[in-house]
Amino acid sequence: MIEFRSVSKRFDDGTLAVDDFNLVIPSRKTTVLVGSSGSGKTTLLRMINRMVDPSDGTVSIDGDDISGIEPVKLRRSIGYVMQNSGLLPHFKVIDNVATVPVLNGVPRKQARAQALELLDTVGLNRDLANRYPSQLSGGQQQRVGVARGLAANPNILLMDEPFGAVDPIVRAELQQETIRLQRDLDKTVVFVTHDIDEAFLLGDQVVILEKGARIAQIGSPTEILANPASDFVATFIGADK
Ligand code: ADP
Repeated sequence: MIEFRSVSKRFDDGTLAVDDFNLVIPSRKTTVLVGSSGSGKTTLLRMINRMVDPSDGTVSIDGDDISGIEPVKLRRSIGYVMQNSGLLPHFKVIDNVATVPVLNGVPRKQARAQALELLDTVGLNRDLANRYPSQLSGGQQQRVGVARGLAANPNILLMDEPFGAVDPIVRAELQQETIRLQRDLDKTVVFVTHDIDEAFLLGDQVVILEKGARIAQIGSPTEILANPASDFVATFIGADK
């Protein structure tokens, strides 16, 4: 499990992005951090793989304070998928996926064979393996991004608004694919979105955030829908309409 204990983050310009945040993220479940733009979701997510370090407090994984773990080493066990897919434009699809294990010491041939299997896993035709990212649709690029996030076989998968830039129909497909992946692969998924419908669809645990990453409510979708904790939550989930 991942645990945030009294975590704050103040950026150099004085912005308090995260204000005394506490959360337990259970293993092998999907936890969704949902809130408006600027509420601190991405900052929280990036603290899990040390792209951002807290100003105060600790983040631990399975009981180990991650401030003592080298970021490069930490990221071997944590996949990261972002909105613009993060693919390397001059690498073919297969190499975008294979690069991660190769950097971790897996022989190239083996990594490429695994990459093809991962294309199957995320529902992409292997015929696309030799294309460049620009030759794929937005939805296909995001699938490659997910394959890349899974390439090192991480226990934890961080997903930052991964489907924010694709059209609604493709988005719905990718959401279903994410549910299937979670069921089959049994990862600890931490998913960031501003879309409450997406949060309720994907989350076992949903964390609704206000500015400063203050927790407005935390619970299963059913719990939150049945009993919004405040007017803010009721408005946010549309229950006041
Ligand atoms: P969200 O993901 O919910 O949109 P972020 O975590 O990106 O929110 O940002 C939270 C707050 O921190 C915002 O006010 C944002 O402007 C600020 N912020 C994020 N990154 C930086 C940074 N590198 N330097 C200064 N302020 C930042």
